[in-house]
Amino acid sequence: MLLCNTQSPPESPWTASLIVRLVSGWPNSRFNPSEGFLLQHIFLTLQLMKSVTEECPDITRIYTIGKSYTGLKLYVMEISDNPGKHELGEPEFRYVAGMHGNEALGRELVLNLMQYLCKEYKKGNQRVVRLVTETRIHLLPSMNPDGHEVAYKKGSELAGWAEGRYSYEGIDMNHNFPDLNNIMWDAQETAADPSKVSNHYIPIPEYYTQEDVAPETRAVISWMQDIPFVLSANLHGGELVVTYPFDCTRDWAPQENTPTADDAFFRWLATVYASTICVATVLVCGGVM
Ligand SMILES: [Zn+2]
Repeated sequence: MLLCNTQSPPESPWTASLIVRLVSGWPNSRFNPSEGFLLQHIFLTLQLMKSVTEECPDITRIYTIGKSYTGLKLYVMEISDNPGKHELGEPEFRYVAGMHGNEALGRELVLNLMQYLCKEYKKGNQRVVRLVTETRIHLLPSMNPDGHEVAYKKGSELAGWAEGRYSYEGIDMNHNFPDLNNIMWDAQETAADPSKVSNHYIPIPEYYTQEDVAPETRAVISWMQDIPFVLSANLHGGELVVTYPFDCTRDWAPQENTPTADDAFFRWLATVYASTICVATVLVCGGVM
């Protein structure tokens, strides 16, 4: 969607501001007194999100799921016909971006998506109207605002590949969530009937709570416990790859198919995403992994 928009003339100040930021980076530092912290992107991200809620107040809501290590809020935009409410039978979906703070494109895509959904809903785009009325969409543009600040301040010319990638404490959030796959596989190995082992809900193990878990990771985990998400995606940058569950192999085998019960659906989703990206960017794509 973003790529399509950048190929056509800006339709509104929103789109124009986004393109400017993509090309030239953020404006100078600002101080947000309500946060008491020198902020670059989080202030402007919030400003942009607020402009969306002002434009589409009936279908949007901004909320926070917690704070980063340095105290920056993790803002989420909710888009639905009844914001703030879980409606029976209406699936909950989320996009998370910026887990690696130096991968900036995901945040821009998510910010652009919220603008797009608002504008198209108002225009009566039937596909978007259906999405807004029949699902509840949650968009977290920046899961690692501390890392993004570090990467931004260094600049793309001076930053190494890891500058701003991790949390302020040096934690890679991409490997910071509990490994529930192996708990399930271990249980299947010892069970009299492996098909009876639950693959639906596995509690977080006790030992995990004693490990180094970033506050940002904890915030996302409790967010997932609060809202019954049925589907989500996490946007990264730098690789042309789509991964889907179970995104690891048993015993760290170099190659092994570890499908979920929803494998056909995940493969279809990944293929749709990968082929759409290929069309939008005129890239030669090898396939889905
Ligand atoms: Zn990443």
